Parts: sequence; structure tokens; C-alpha cells
Amino acid sequence: HNQKPWLSHYPQEVSPSFDYPKHNVAEFLVQAAAKFPKRPAIHFMGKELNYTELIECAYKFAHALRKLGIDKGDRVALMLPNSPSMVIAYYGTLLAGAVVVMTNPLYVPRELEHQLKDSGSVAIVTLDLLFRRVEEVVPRTSIRHTIVTSIQDYLPFPKNLFYPLKVKKDGMKRDVSYGANVHAFQKLLRDSPVTPVRTEVDAENEMAMLQYTGGTTGVAKGVILTHYNAVVNTIQARNWGYRKVPGRERYLAALPFFHVFGMTVLMNQSVLLGGCLILMPRFEAGQALKTINKQKPTLFPGAPTMYIALINHPEVRKYNLSSINICISGAAPLPLEVQERFESLTGGRLIEGYGLTESSPVTHANNIWEKRKLGSIGIPFPDTMARIVNPETGEALPQGEIGELAVSGPQVMKGYWNRPEETAKVLQDGWLRTGDMARMDEDGFFYIIDRMKDMIIAGGYNIFPREIEEVLYEHPDIEEAAALGVPDKYRGETVKAFIVLKDGASLEAGDLEKWCRERLAAYKVPHLYEFRDSLPKTMAGKVLRRKLLEDNEAHSRPV
Ligand code: AMP
Repeated sequence: HNQKPWLSHYPQEVSPSFDYPKHNVAEFLVQAAAKFPKRPAIHFMGKELNYTELIECAYKFAHALRKLGIDKGDRVALMLPNSPSMVIAYYGTLLAGAVVVMTNPLYVPRELEHQLKDSGSVAIVTLDLLFRRVEEVVPRTSIRHTIVTSIQDYLPFPKNLFYPLKVKKDGMKRDVSYGANVHAFQKLLRDSPVTPVRTEVDAENEMAMLQYTGGTTGVAKGVILTHYNAVVNTIQARNWGYRKVPGRERYLAALPFFHVFGMTVLMNQSVLLGGCLILMPRFEAGQALKTINKQKPTLFPGAPTMYIALINHPEVRKYNLSSINICISGAAPLPLEVQERFESLTGGRLIEGYGLTESSPVTHANNIWEKRKLGSIGIPFPDTMARIVNPETGEALPQGEIGELAVSGPQVMKGYWNRPEETAKVLQDGWLRTGDMARMDEDGFFYIIDRMKDMIIAGGYNIFPREIEEVLYEHPDIEEAAALGVPDKYRGETVKAFIVLKDGASLEAGDLEKWCRERLAAYKVPHLYEFRDSLPKTMAGKVLRRKLLEDNEAHSRPV
């Protein structure tokens, strides 16, 4: 009888604070189009699409999928950067009752093949520039249709639209037909009716998204997010902070929509509020500064690496950043220094939140307007429960102790796709085990210590890289830093710091070691330092720790 396992952990008298609607995620767009037909929904390369235009394109896309024989529950992969096609294909797929499988445009063929096969996707929507990579993989998967779009489709001249597509083949630019079962996105739209398409769903049980995660640490697993999961988390975020927002918000859409953070906190959130998404296909600091200056976004959810890049840009003071009111940082720890400098530059609020793909993603945030604590991920979201447990036994630990963070709430996934054993490991009695070490203070604020799997064990000591990184970020000459455990003959592992210096700065390993010695216990001080021009990152702004380790192994091998 227990349909909502997360509720069983509520004290008897507590029930959800809000009646979250049980509808298709795409209803957000249907409602926005009815309420704000003429408001801009998307801004891209100087052009705007209003809510009526956006929903018409989404309806057309849904018709097109149906005509291609794509049924309710079929998986449709979207391998696209932030662009109008991405937003249209996302809502169009959901309107048709199909399941969105977000695919990282940076995937190499091996990763793409794994995801397409694992999800059993039957169609893929991609960009002309990525077509060759997709084409190579498709015959080994269950993909029946490939739909190709182009940034060209949105250039100012309508006659550039559509067909036939031009691609470079053998280094020559010529018109080619992509062959059977390959379709031009714009042609599909043009040939489809504009009448409404909506698919009723059993929101609590039917999957809206199959969202892959874990790709940076192991084989990627599909997280089953229901329509209800995604609807709830979008509304939780609105109830959390945006009730006081006057509306007509403009979002700097720099986080990729294919990552669950960008999907919920940007795309769905903006559509729920009738806001405008200012699309950036790729984050680049100089471009972002220009866009903020000109397009005047009010909200900018992002990852710490994005804020770091902006505050350190040599020309940051040339631009007017004062339109920015609220920024929510997630995905990785936000160094204090960065928070303070970014707020003083913009005059807005930068607050830290926390989440993971398995919870759609947000479970914690600081309050935007009232009490917040620096260095903390804040308190649990509305209708979300959190506790600290012993990572081995799962038993709750007393307040103040460090243990594994476990969360429970209506935004928590149904499980991993076709992986019952992995699901059973992380979902226990309605609690999701996050794999992050954390503690809770006496006011109920949570602090992430580090990911369990990033913990370094050196000479028997447990060392959390984040603490070392915080110390390095305090150094005025350091732009970015990552601390990792690398193999060591005597201590098992030893700490190595990867450092990016600010422009014009010069530092030696010895200076840094001294800096760390003054601020950290001896066993935590990195013994190895590597200076780099940049750190490898995912498009969502997370440092690719595994890549740093691989590079390190490659360097350490005897030649
Ligand atoms: P993903 O599933 O890709 O969204 O990654 C989720 C992971 O990102 C979490 O398990 C954390 O390890 C990390 N993460 C997210 N937000 C924060 C934060 N504010 N501070 C520290 N780590 C975070």
C-alpha cells in the first residue's frame, strides 16, 4: 500500500506542504503558452521565439515523431547543445509521450554507443556538426531514425532554413542527402501540422527522462525520472525562492540542458515562470560577460567553475553585470572567496545548493532572501528529508557527526534503468544514499565534506580534497585548483595539487607548500604540485578528476 515510500519516513502528522500536480512535464509549456502567448521564451543569436511560437514548434515536433512511428514510452535521444532545437525537441518529445534521453554532445563514439544501446533509444536528434559521430555508431544500436538540425537553421535569413542540408564530406562542401531514415529537423517541422498534441501520463509511474550519470567515474547508468519527479523539483525550486520574484525573469542559460541541473533549474523553471531563456550553446567567460552586459539576465544558475571564470576574466570590470539578481550554484563545492567576489561584482545574491541526478536534482539550498550560511549547502528543500547515516550500516548518526548524506522526497528517482542491484544499493527504505560525506549543524544546515569516492587515504589518514582546495583558493594568485590522491609507494596515496595560476602570476611549488603548511595539518599538505593552463571540465562545469588522474598516470609511467 506504500505508494510513496518517502512519505513513510515523515512523522505521522506531516504531509507534503504543496499539492504537486500529477501531469506531463510538458504541461508547463502548455500553461505558459496559454498565459503568456506573446512573451519571449527563448533568445538565441539575436532572435527571439515567443511562447506561442515555441509551443507550435513543439506540437509540430510531437506530430513528426508520431508520424515516424514513435510511441508512448519509446526513448528519444537528444544530443544537442543549448539551442532552440533542444528546447523544441525536449518538450515535443514529452508531448508525444516519449522519453527524453539526454546525451552529452562531447561523448566519444564508445560512450554514445553505450548510452544508446543501454537506453534502447529508437531515435536520436543531433546537430549537423555531430552527425558523422552519430552515423558511425547508429548501425550498432536500436536507433531507427536520426533527426539532424543545424545552428544554420537559426541564422537571420529564413531562406537559409531547412533543406537540403549541407555537410562537409571528404573535406568538400556539397549537398548530400543523409540517406534513408535521416531527417532534417526543420523539414519535419515544416511538414507537420500545428494542432495540439498532448499525451496523458501516469505521472508518478511513467518515465519522462532517462538521465545518464556516473560517466565520469565508471560506466554510465540511466536514472529513471518520472514526470512527477521533474514536475515536483521544478515547483519545489519555485516555492523555495522565486515566489518573491516579480516575473519576467531572464535566465542566462549557460548550464547545459542535457545535465539535470540545467534541465530543471533553468529550462523547466523558466518555462514554469514564463521567463526568457538566453541560450548559450557553450560557456565561455568573455562571451558570457558580453551577453550579460547586453541581454541583462536577472537569474544565472551555474556551476562554481563558471563564476570563477567570470570573476577572473581580465576585462570583467568593463561590463555592467548589475542586472543579475540571483545565482544558484550547484554541481560542485563553491569556494567562499568566489562567492564573496562574485556578489561584490554583481550586487546580486549567489547562493549554494546541492543535488544529484538521482533526485532530479535539487535536495538542498540556502535561503535566497533570509538566513544562509557560507560554506553550507543549506537546508533541505520543501518536502525533502535529509539525514546523516553510517555509510556501512545505514544507521542514522547523532547530529554533528560526519557520515553519508541520505535524502528522501518526491523528487527522488524510481531507480536505475535495468540495474536492480545498483538500485538496491542506493535506494533503501525510501532513502537515497548520495555517496557524499556530510554533516549537519545545530541549526539543521548541511555541509558537504566530500564525495566518498574522492576521499584520499594517505598513510592511514583520511583526507578530503575539498578542504585542501579551499585553502588553495584562498591564495590570491590561484585561479583554479584540484587536489587528488595519486599512488605512493610508502603512504599508499599521496596528495597532489593541480594548479591554474591567474594571468601574470608566478608561483613555485615551494611557495605553495609553505602556504598549505601554515593552514593545514602536515599529513594533508600536498607534496606534489602540477601547474596547468586549465583543468579539464565537463560541460556542466565539474572538474574531470578521473581525467586528471589518467593524465597523471600517463606522465608517471617510465618512458
Ligand atoms: P550529478 O549527478 O552529475 O548532478 O552529480 C551529483 C554530485 O555532485 C553530488 O553527489 C555531489 O558529489 C556533487 N555536488 C553537487 N552539488 C554540490 C555542492 N554544492 N557541493 C559539493 N558537491 C556537490
